[in-house]
Amino acid sequence: MTTPGPDHPVTGDPHATAGDPPARGDDAPSGGGIATGDTVENDRAEALADLDDLEAREDLDDLEVDPDGLPEPDGPAPRLVVFDVGEVLIDESRVWAVWAGLLGVSPLTFAAVLGAAIVQGEDHEAVFPHVAPNIDWRRFEDEHERRYGGFRSEDVYADVQPCLEELRSLGFRVVIAGNQPARRSAQLRELGVPCDDLVTSEELGSEKPDPAFFAAVLGRAGTSDPTDAIYVGDRVDNDIAPAAALGWRTCWLRRGPWGHLQDLPDGLTPDLSLEGLGELPLLLSQWRDP
Ligand SMILES: [Mg+2]
Repeated sequence: MTTPGPDHPVTGDPHATAGDPPARGDDAPSGGGIATGDTVENDRAEALADLDDLEAREDLDDLEVDPDGLPEPDGPAPRLVVFDVGEVLIDESRVWAVWAGLLGVSPLTFAAVLGAAIVQGEDHEAVFPHVAPNIDWRRFEDEHERRYGGFRSEDVYADVQPCLEELRSLGFRVVIAGNQPARRSAQLRELGVPCDDLVTSEELGSEKPDPAFFAAVLGRAGTSDPTDAIYVGDRVDNDIAPAAALGWRTCWLRRGPWGHLQDLPDGLTPDLSLEGLGELPLLLSQWRDP
């Protein structure tokens, strides 16, 4: 069986709605307090407003990364950086646009209903009865895959290549492991995404948020210590919550529909919370070499 969408290659991800329904993200906490681009810009603007003050000039020099936002040095930095695929490496806009075209609705309509489903704690499959109530969408899975055609270079977020290359040059082990059908492995390799290991849930035989997925990823890297690793993911339910519960370090990447809409449950604070991958190598190297 092929898959209707990303991240759910085998079973449609029956676990995807686990946990509390996410609230609207307007007042969503920003997680671990790492400075986002906006925060840095705001701080910079404040500092620029007082450039006559020498101290302000000195402060400005420190604003490349907000020192208050750095991870708490309460343990060793991870050496293994594991990346999710959908909305972390790959912009999935085409996935949904192709579905919209197949079902005869606009991409805007499909995206709006998808967002509503996410906010209500539903999985992406909840979209189909709304946008195509008289159609068995599963009959169109093969046609969707034919039209989608797999990952293309234009689907890869622009910050992926420099981030992963820099991490490897800094000595981190870079792994790509997401809920994907096995055929996506070859597509990512053909696109030249830099990594030391790459594996899909279908190849592992387990998918997030199953702890077996995370254990298998660690095992492939030759460790059983979860603090060796940081998982970089966009979804709270599939990525951040299960990884953190297992003792992994976590980096919540707030992009894509889930990254913007989901909320953190009480008591869960990712080690890093970012809006892009650009700062990740610097933050991890500063964590490792304070
Ligand atoms: Mg994802």
